[in-house]
Amino acid sequence: MNSRWFAPLLVLGALLGWLSATMFGGTAWLDDLTLLLQTSFLAALRMIIVPLIFFSLLTGILQLRGTRSMGRLGGVTVAYYALTSAIAISLGLVVVFFIHPWTAYPPLTELPEVTTTLLDAEQDGSVLGILQNLLSSMLTNPFTAMADVNILGVLTTAILFGLAAAVSLPEDSKWPDMLSEVTQLIYTCARWILTTLPVGLFAIAYQLTGRIDTDTLASLGQFALVVFGATAVHGLIVLPLLAWLLGGVSPARLARALGQPMLTALLTSSSAATLPLSMTAAEEKLGVARNKAAFVLPLGATINMDGTALFEAIAVVFLAYMFSVPLDAGDIIAVFLMTMLVSAGAPGIPSGGMTGLQVILLSVGIPLEAIGLVLLIERPLDTFRTAVNVEGDLIGSAVAQRWS
Ligand code: ASP
Repeated sequence: MNSRWFAPLLVLGALLGWLSATMFGGTAWLDDLTLLLQTSFLAALRMIIVPLIFFSLLTGILQLRGTRSMGRLGGVTVAYYALTSAIAISLGLVVVFFIHPWTAYPPLTELPEVTTTLLDAEQDGSVLGILQNLLSSMLTNPFTAMADVNILGVLTTAILFGLAAAVSLPEDSKWPDMLSEVTQLIYTCARWILTTLPVGLFAIAYQLTGRIDTDTLASLGQFALVVFGATAVHGLIVLPLLAWLLGGVSPARLARALGQPMLTALLTSSSAATLPLSMTAAEEKLGVARNKAAFVLPLGATINMDGTALFEAIAVVFLAYMFSVPLDAGDIIAVFLMTMLVSAGAPGIPSGGMTGLQVILLSVGIPLEAIGLVLLIERPLDTFRTAVNVEGDLIGSAVAQRWS
């Protein structure tokens, strides 16, 4: 991805969109051109998203077979990572359920047939009905699920096939390698598509800014504040508490260990780039054995993303409101499950969580261009969530050391 062009083209698109809308009341040829670019870019993303999810999840599960050989350490690590991700997502969803100041402003898109949204709707439908809906999207013909871009169905199929392969394939089977080669092939296609990301972003920013007014900007600012607040609660209260209770690490010792890695995470927005510092801090400041840190931390930088998970949960609810997509209780459960999965799949690089966010958006019917709205404020948000991602990994190393 030509990330150098990422920010300038985003700003250029936003600026042109704003100038064109405010000064000329729209510029026909530029409006048409950016609409074409936006539609083609989003169509290309939609094209690759199903095979990408299916094969990366399948190979991811097969790779988890490797943690079996790490025995108890692998089990404790994966359990801790799953627990903290679940807490982060629940925290995000609970916070956003009570605190959603942006609903004071009108949404960006009013869909005529939509009368309610999650945050003002009376939750109708029995628990049984919700469960039935959820299950019928999950347990569906795999081919129909793929053709309909039913993300929940695709995920269920991939998990089922992955688990079946993990338990039934012999140790020397060629399938895991073959599948991971197919995944590589799909990653290559995804990379090709993503080379057009700057152009896509330019077009999305242009199209969106033409529709953005001060109300939208105020909503975005409030969204950012809610994300910051919830991330701070997770990073300053929930995780230190877990470090103390589960890892036996006092808040003072934790603060000493976290200083350098968290600062680096803030500056680089990349948990992968922070890994060397996290390893040193785990060994020197938290007393984690080198071989354990060498297993737990790289795994954490790949699958444990508390900050990302929390951000994604809040972002989905925010965007559902902004684009007038109603979310019922079943959708919220789907958001929870999807966020667990996609945050685990997010790469530890700047904006690595954005691809996963698109997958969650698709799964609850929010239009893909909604991502453009969050991208306008993505940079500062990424720094903080990466710092919390790194904090979660480091605490994970202390917990895993203690319980394995
Ligand atoms: N930048 C994050 C990280 O490296 C991933 C993301 O949420 O975008 O941990």
